Amino acid sequence: MSIKNNLNIITNTIPENVKLIVVSKTQPVTSILEAYEAGQRAFGENKIQEMAEKFDILPKDIEWDMIGHLQSNKVKYMAHFVNLIHGVDSFKTLQEINKQALKNNRIINCLLEVKIASEETKFGLSFEEVVLLLTSEELKNLKNINIQGLMGMASFTENNEIIRNEFKSLKTFFDSLQKMKSFNVNPTILSMGMSGDYKIAIEEGSTMIRVGSAIFGSRNYN
Ligand SMILES: *Cc1c(COP(=O)(O)O)cnc(C)c1O
Repeated sequence: MSIKNNLNIITNTIPENVKLIVVSKTQPVTSILEAYEAGQRAFGENKIQEMAEKFDILPKDIEWDMIGHLQSNKVKYMAHFVNLIHGVDSFKTLQEINKQALKNNRIINCLLEVKIASEETKFGLSFEEVVLLLTSEELKNLKNINIQGLMGMASFTENNEIIRNEFKSLKTFFDSLQKMKSFNVNPTILSMGMSGDYKIAIEEGSTMIRVGSAIFGSRNYN
């Protein structure tokens, strides 16, 4: 199957209110262009430098999302162009994003990453930490960020019930945040679902899926 075919299968089967982010990490520019020529404009990368290099050479109407874990000292390399940062999991990182957004005279859209998987390796905030962050006085000083919702990754397991329950818990929590809306908190995006579990994620209320290998084939490394 070609990249174009794989992409069409997914875009033709997901609901209209679900946005597909094509995860192009480790993929060469030629493969990204194949998806671009099939009409795809939203791509996700997990390394800031790799994303910045691709931004420089690829068409400028591509939206670049950062989906990986962030190192604060590298935020400056993407602040001028990044569309949405999915993996924010500390106030310190938000402060750095705000600082770099201000320098670029922009407002940068962010999602807070929540840890829903049972695995030790996954990053993210607890539900309690998200509430503390969203209700903190200090958040009001960050005028150049816009928190648009949450991102989560389910456990890496064959057990669909575990995956479903993790997504369900994130959706319930996401719904509870609607009452916390403010000038820089506007929870409309729930980013959950990857190649192996996006169908379950959509059934459980995802509004944004991040899909790589189901489109490009399996990667040799992450
Ligand atoms: C790599 C990655 C994806 C895509 O994974 P696939 O299984 O290839 O679809 C989605 N989200 C994050 C955060 C990733 O790092």
